[in-house]
This record gives sequence, structure tokens and C-alpha cells, in this order.
Amino acid sequence: MKALIVASALTLVGSCATLSHTKKLQNIKDSIVFTDANIINNYANTITVAELNTHVYKFSSDEFEGRRAGEPGHHKAANYLKDYYIKEGIASPLGTDNYYQIVPESFFDNGIKSSPNVIAYIKGTEYPDEVLIISGHSDHEGFTEKFIYNGADDNGSGTAAMLEMAQAFKKAENEGFAPKRSIVFLHFTGEEVDLTGSRYYTKHPVFPLHNTIANLNIDMIGRVDDSHEDNPNYIYLIGSDRLSTELHYISESANENFTKLELDYRLNSDSDPNQYYSRSDHYNFAQNGVPVIFYFNGTHDDYHEPTDTAEKINFPLLQKRTKLIFTTAWYIANNEKPIKVDLDS
Ligand SMILES: [Zn+2]
Repeated sequence: MKALIVASALTLVGSCATLSHTKKLQNIKDSIVFTDANIINNYANTITVAELNTHVYKFSSDEFEGRRAGEPGHHKAANYLKDYYIKEGIASPLGTDNYYQIVPESFFDNGIKSSPNVIAYIKGTEYPDEVLIISGHSDHEGFTEKFIYNGADDNGSGTAAMLEMAQAFKKAENEGFAPKRSIVFLHFTGEEVDLTGSRYYTKHPVFPLHNTIANLNIDMIGRVDDSHEDNPNYIYLIGSDRLSTELHYISESANENFTKLELDYRLNSDSDPNQYYSRSDHYNFAQNGVPVIFYFNGTHDDYHEPTDTAEKINFPLLQKRTKLIFTTAWYIANNEKPIKVDLDS
């Protein structure tokens, strides 16, 4: 009897709270409108399968020797990124031709030599101090006597997506559609060794973290996991609803307007045993109160194996997922107000 009374009282309180909560969510949803959808689409369409293909094949080639942080192969990979930004006319916030934030050897725990985060940006026209960071790690597992760990999905896919988005935002800037806020492209080193590059960045941020309004982090978006073999039109999103309700609905609306992927949230659950929310570079931003979305295709048989190679990438799917991130980023960078942080988990 007692238990029942408690239960019904709880139900009553619950339904009142739910009603006003529902209304609040509806208000947030209604406030998100892609008014310049045609313009956004024009630039999203400059993200091509051919160019993604070029970047993934190059970045995961044997030439870069598995991109182990601190090793010559990773230095070459970082240099490829730097040369790309110079060629595309995309500046660094660190100064002319200075695209490296060096993570010193002393900051790595495990005898890894100093290694760069690579950073480039497009300056906002109206709120240049407000910063959106698009990130992905550049390093991987290196090589053994027998194998090179090419890391085409992990994280050649995310790296290629970033390079294509940077080019698209630059083209928009050149044609009179510069973002209102600054957009930073940040390639972390040492993700594979305890998220060291992002940990270093958040301890030594180039832009103050309190002005960093969101982080969209990409780690493996070129493949299909076992549970989606029959319906590959998907992406896992992790973290989108943890700190900012608005960020979550911007992402959903971008998908409805432009990409129509199945947004799969099952790995976002607090109770998911994999705990992916804490397993890539975005976590260091979330820990500092910066809302994040982590874009991920899930694991597969080639995860952290030498068989993670470029010919296994689904390039049309990589293109579609990149467009989702691009259109979400466009909104965040151009909306009149910065996104609100309204949650605390
Ligand atoms: Zn990774």
C-alpha cells in the first residue's frame, strides 16, 4: 500500500515535469531553422568522393608507416596536413606557416618523442573569438617487423573528412559566405596513447576554452559495423545530448535537411559497456564543459589491425557522413546566438 502511494505521487510529479520539459524541447526544436539551405548545400556538394578517396589513400599509405606519434611516419603525415592547408590558403592561428602545436616528449608518459597537433582555422567575421573546433586524430599504431598499421578508417577517414570540410568552408569564405564564428581544424597527435594530444591542447588551448562553443570530433567514419550490414545508411552519435540540448537538435535538424542518415544513439547510453564517450579526444573538451558530438561508425574486424586499409572504405558513405558534420558545423558557426549549455552530465 505504502509503496503504491509513493509510486502514484511520483507519477504525478513526473508528468508535470514532463509536460513543461516537452514544451521546452519543442521550443528549442522550433528555433532551429536552416534558412540558407541552398547555399549550405552548394558548399556541402564540394565534398566529393574523389577527393576523400585521394586523402584516405595518401594518409593511410605505407609512406606514413602507420603514423605512430613521435615517429618519422607521423611527422610526414603532419607535414602532409600542413602543406595541404598552405596550398588551400587556410591560415594557422599560430602564425604564418606555423601549423604545429608541439606536444613535448615530457608530456607523454610512455617514452614517445615530441609530436605535433596540427591546427588551421577560418576566422569568423562577426564573433571571431567564439570558436567551433572540428577535430580528429592523425596518429595510429605504427608498424612492426611484419606489418604496417595503415589506419585507413582509424583515422584516415576522419582526417579526410576534415580536409574536405576545411576546403568547403574556405571556398565559402572566398565567395562571400565566411562563417560568423571561427572554425578551427585540429588534428590531434597521440590519441592512440591516452588521448595525449587533446589532453595537451585542453591544458594549453590556443583559443580559450570558455570561448570554445563546441567540439565536433571524428574518429572512424568510413566503414560499416556488423550490426548495420543490411542498413549501412547510419552513423553513431555520442555525446550530442549531454551538455547542450540545442546541439543535439541542431545535429538532428541538419540530418533531416541534408543527409537523412539513421542517427544511432545506442552507444551514447550511460550504461553502454564500451563507454565510448570517454574514449576519444572529444572527452577532454567535455570534461571542460564544452559540448561535443563524437562521430563514429563502430568497430569492425579490422579495428586496430594491419588490415584497416583504404580499399575497404565506403567512400559514398564517408561523403554523406562528412556532409552531416559539415552542415551541423555551418549552423553552429553561423547562427545568431552561440549554442547554449543547459545540461551538466
Ligand atoms: Zn581512432
